[in-house]
Amino acid sequence: MRRTKIIATLGPASSSADVIDEMINAGVDVFRLNFSHGSEEEQKARAALIRERSEALNHIVSILVDLQGPKIRTEKFVDGRVQLIRGERFILDAALDKNAGTSERVGIAYKDLPQDVEAGDVLMLDDGRVELEVVEVKGAEIHCSVAYTCELSNNKGINLQGGGLSAPALTDKDKADIVTGVAIEADFIALSFARSASDVNECRKLVRTAGGHAAIVTKVERAEAIANIDEIILASDVIMVARGDLGVEMGDAELPALQKSLISKARSNDKVVITATQMMESMIENPIPTRAEVFDVANAVLDGTDAVMLSGETAVGRYPAKVVKTMGRICEHAERQRQAMVSDHRVDLTFGRVDEAIAMATMYTANHLKVCAIASLTESGATVLWMSRISSGIPIFALTPKQATQRKLTMYRGVYPVKVDFAKIGPHHISEGVVNLLVEKGIAQKGDRIIVTRGDMLGDQGGGSNSMKIIDL
Ligand code: PGA
Ligand code: MN
Repeated sequence: MRRTKIIATLGPASSSADVIDEMINAGVDVFRLNFSHGSEEEQKARAALIRERSEALNHIVSILVDLQGPKIRTEKFVDGRVQLIRGERFILDAALDKNAGTSERVGIAYKDLPQDVEAGDVLMLDDGRVELEVVEVKGAEIHCSVAYTCELSNNKGINLQGGGLSAPALTDKDKADIVTGVAIEADFIALSFARSASDVNECRKLVRTAGGHAAIVTKVERAEAIANIDEIILASDVIMVARGDLGVEMGDAELPALQKSLISKARSNDKVVITATQMMESMIENPIPTRAEVFDVANAVLDGTDAVMLSGETAVGRYPAKVVKTMGRICEHAERQRQAMVSDHRVDLTFGRVDEAIAMATMYTANHLKVCAIASLTESGATVLWMSRISSGIPIFALTPKQATQRKLTMYRGVYPVKVDFAKIGPHHISEGVVNLLVEKGIAQKGDRIIVTRGDMLGDQGGGSNSMKIIDL
């Protein structure tokens, strides 16, 4: 059973019912709708299809809405693309008509860019494939020297090496997209290009004001975010190691160390973490990954990531279901390398809450007593979030009647949401009811030892977990 979760981006290659079915069957846990592309209608149709297919296949999957953010882009070229020659001048011109790009200059969507840069700065376009050194800024024109001969085509992203662009994280489009995200009941909303905790708080406020319950995913992809990472992690529910933009801003060689430290910081603060971008990139075209990609996915698993993400691989690639299966297989094998008996997670801290103490006691016991599964009756999912921050090979089944909680749990490593109807179990036979349910679902069988955690109150009365029970079937 795979513990690491797979997020797959939907796009033109993967928006039919058939392909979505194949992807769910291949093991997708979370579908990502990338709001950088596609109309509101397209996204709504995709979301409806995901809900329909997940219901039909009786498989809990969730939806992540990824906001575009202030992606700073070039405008268009008259001929669609140009060749840039090493050493020659090229001008980014904020005053140029947006379709009038030539081999001499191109327009830019973000009009403040000339104020944000100075001579000596390095601009990276198209995820670093095009490098321009700023020679001088003249009014709305940024005069650059081309670092190496390359092609540049329409609407390519622009990053400033080292960071420092002033664009706020939430654009007007993002604010409208948040309303759309809430309308489709997104389980996660991802904030792009966040700089600080206040960006995250603002996003959360907009989601709540619109009536949404989505967890907030902060994409760590700017140099400023790294400078403010502790407050950002605390303000977020989930962080994403967004290696595409982050690698351009911080330098690609910084990425492996950043990935490890971001994953470890997120986990030790009881937060969830996604590793994203170019994980299986070559499978956009090919039926098998490169060896380097196999190692990359496995290493992210060993680093402790909750989820690994596919972007173009499933959005525009040739093998949307196969890449999910392949990635899943790599994760499962890597997970076998990491089944710690002891975890030093927060050992030097005192617990703030009873349910946290129950979660920690359960994991300590489970890792030492050889139980085969943990079943946790949960309303909000808090108890299983704590449990899943501890390294373990033991599956954690989260039994909850709440659909929103079931879906949110699809992102947590080693946690499997199970629908349960407390009314059917009845308050006096909880352990028996839980055992029957696990047996019925093929999760546990006679001879197994499991741990059940629960609170005194079930259902909407609230109240967190306050007991754990060890049961021999
Ligand atoms: P993007 O974010 O794919 O939306 O740009 C991820 C990244 O930058 O890695
Ligand atoms: Mn990005």
